[in-house]
Amino acid sequence: MSKQIQEHNSLELGVYLHIPFCSSICHYCDFAKTAHWDDELKNRYLNTLNTHLKSWLHYLKQEAGQVSIITVNIGGGTPSLITHGYEGIFSSLAPYLSPDCEVSLEANPNDCSLENLKIWKNCGFNRISVGVQTFQEKGLSFLKRDHSRSKAIKSMEACGAYFENTNLDLIYSWPSQSLGEWLEDLELAQKLNCKHFSLYNLTYAQGTPIGRARQRGKIIEPRDESQEQLYYSAMEYLAKYGFEHEEVSNWSKKGFSCKHNWLYWQGKPYLGVGAGAHGFLPGKSPIGVRYHYTRRERSFRQVDASTGNPFEDFAPLIEIEQRDEEAYLLELLGSSLRSSRGLDLQDIKTRTGKSFCPNAELELAMENKLLTLDKDRLYLHPKEWFREVHWCLKLSECFEYES
Ligand code: SF4
Repeated sequence: MSKQIQEHNSLELGVYLHIPFCSSICHYCDFAKTAHWDDELKNRYLNTLNTHLKSWLHYLKQEAGQVSIITVNIGGGTPSLITHGYEGIFSSLAPYLSPDCEVSLEANPNDCSLENLKIWKNCGFNRISVGVQTFQEKGLSFLKRDHSRSKAIKSMEACGAYFENTNLDLIYSWPSQSLGEWLEDLELAQKLNCKHFSLYNLTYAQGTPIGRARQRGKIIEPRDESQEQLYYSAMEYLAKYGFEHEEVSNWSKKGFSCKHNWLYWQGKPYLGVGAGAHGFLPGKSPIGVRYHYTRRERSFRQVDASTGNPFEDFAPLIEIEQRDEEAYLLELLGSSLRSSRGLDLQDIKTRTGKSFCPNAELELAMENKLLTLDKDRLYLHPKEWFREVHWCLKLSECFEYES
């Protein structure tokens, strides 16, 4: 696997663990999840998750010499449906955790009682991320969230009692949402003293109830200009309250940046384990290995780990994604360009052999300050992050092998 990590004799990485269980299904959701589960399935799943995790960590340690986990994110699904149950996973992680490791739990407002928050805090979590999505009852009803506005407010207040590092997720651009309602959501969220916001423009993924309804013409998506207006209004509003805009969907107060997100955005390694989980690990080639687990939670099972190499042992459950340098470049453009740390051109050159050679159109964009080149990094203006797909396509044509 690992010429690259052997050279450094240590590997710093994040860990993502997926819990697929939910109490009900939201109509926009495209994650690997199920509302059909019981304690037996949950316990079996957690045991399997822990066994897989241990195998991966043991393998990576053997390959790298040393492994340091700098972030852990338990996401889903609804990981907050589990209060007691993470102890085994923390025991497996403990030998590898860096002293300032960010350890985050995704939570539903319905689960954020003071009692549960205390248990999670004592277990080792130091960051909590709550999926509120909106405070508007009609928005909650459209999205089919299973909590109320008042529950969301009370939960965020409770989170503040145990966690300083809190994130709140909101969704905008749901049909009939007005600018006033969006600003009210932002104002309420801001008053709840959260340190980080993830604000997502609603998407209509294929196969979701709202995706199907849109296809049948039952839902009319807000026009692009309205969606942009909501994005720009969030930029303006949160800047006023001292939030730094870090990525198209993420804002944070100073010192509360989400380290785990930055691993994704900058093409750094992370181990993903669980149904539907994705991972990105160093490999033989400089562009690393991307893989994902099967999405079906009932297929996520113990397997014979006889070779000691999870890529081989877990082959029935994981798929290694076939990529080349072009695909790597597009991945990195897609994730880095819409963030405040921009695109590392030197890293791209090292991994793909290609250099940035702007054409006349991009030269003009640089003159107009839409793109900025500074010390081997390329930055896109935050107002343009919303149109990142457009810029990725343009930029992907401007990387060439040096002759
Ligand atoms: S709670 Fe989260 S994972 Fe579960 S259905 Fe809703 S959005 Fe999806």
